[in-house]
Amino acid sequence: METDVVVIGAGPSGVQAAIYAARRKVSTVIIGKPSNSAAADARIENYFGVIGPVRGRDLLDNGIIQVKSFGAEFVEENVITAERDGKSFIIRTESGKEYTAKSVIMATGISRVKLGIPGEKEFIGRGVSYCSVCDCNFFKGKTVAVIGDETEAAMAAELMTKYATQVYWITKGPKAVKALVDRALLAGVIMKDVSPKEIRGDGKVESLVLGDDSEIDLDGVFIELGAKSAADLAMDMDLMPEMDNTIKVDAKYATKVPGLFACGDVVGKPWQVARAVGQGCMAGLSAADYAKGTK
Ligand SMILES: Cc1cc2nc3c(=O)[nH]c(=O)nc-3n(C[C@H](O)[C@H](O)[C@H](O)COP(=O)(O)OP(=O)(O)OC[C@H]3O[C@@H](n4cnc5c(N)ncnc54)[C@H](O)[C@@H]3O)c2cc1C
Repeated sequence: METDVVVIGAGPSGVQAAIYAARRKVSTVIIGKPSNSAAADARIENYFGVIGPVRGRDLLDNGIIQVKSFGAEFVEENVITAERDGKSFIIRTESGKEYTAKSVIMATGISRVKLGIPGEKEFIGRGVSYCSVCDCNFFKGKTVAVIGDETEAAMAAELMTKYATQVYWITKGPKAVKALVDRALLAGVIMKDVSPKEIRGDGKVESLVLGDDSEIDLDGVFIELGAKSAADLAMDMDLMPEMDNTIKVDAKYATKVPGLFACGDVVGKPWQVARAVGQGCMAGLSAADYAKGTK
């Protein structure tokens, strides 16, 4: 099937991009699974106009209704291959659907690096978080641990001292710049030089067991290990991701490959809905204009 714009990814950024492209009256297909969006498990209270927390899943469900109401086709599948064919792109989905598009928007998000210890998966959203900026407010007056060695972890540990009463930083030797480590320690963070072993609880997080078999009673565990990006697809479309796996874009959210745009978490930090949606708006307009030949 031929179309003007294909959006890969059905998170906040892709959905917003598809809304803007469809309303520009170009044929638009959005391909992705909202249930796999980072926002699907989020409880959001820092997005404009939302007196939260609201379920990210509800925002996504409403977004899909909107996108369809403006005439875009929604395909709830993964894209398995994407390639360039002259000035067009050929996109194939897992069920074998094939789309030839004049422009493509990558809104594929990132997947947060997991620890892989017992209890982690079980307690996501019930005390385990991968985003201190998002979830800090839910841990006011509580005890939390931040796990990780790099800049993200140092900044998260310091941030959490403004909310939690006690913050532990579990690190096998901090690799963040010294000034950030010092700031976290000065703010009262207790550093523990030992690996995390297991997260325990009953319905919600209650403790963290460490490699030396000691156990800390706490309410939250922030896993701040960075992210992997779905940048493989970009390479299939002749675009080399940056060293940190993000996709570089210009002010119109265009990549170096003509007709290929990107927005949202895949473009870089901060990983936030407001930013992803703003970029989705821009990318949707740019991709539609490109497809119309009016870039
Ligand atoms: C637990 C949690 C809580 C959060 N809380 C908040 C908060 O309170 N406030 C806030 O602002 N932000 C929060 N965030 C961050 C926010 O969810 C993200 O910044 C936002 O979802 C990014 O949107 P996105 O569209 O760029 O990426 P995503 O939402 O991750 O969506 C990416 C989409 O691309 C799809 N995709 C990937 N590869 C393919 C492929 N090959 N084919 C088809 N589709 C593909 C995915 O399935 C998904 O649908 C939270 C994140 C998490 C994990």
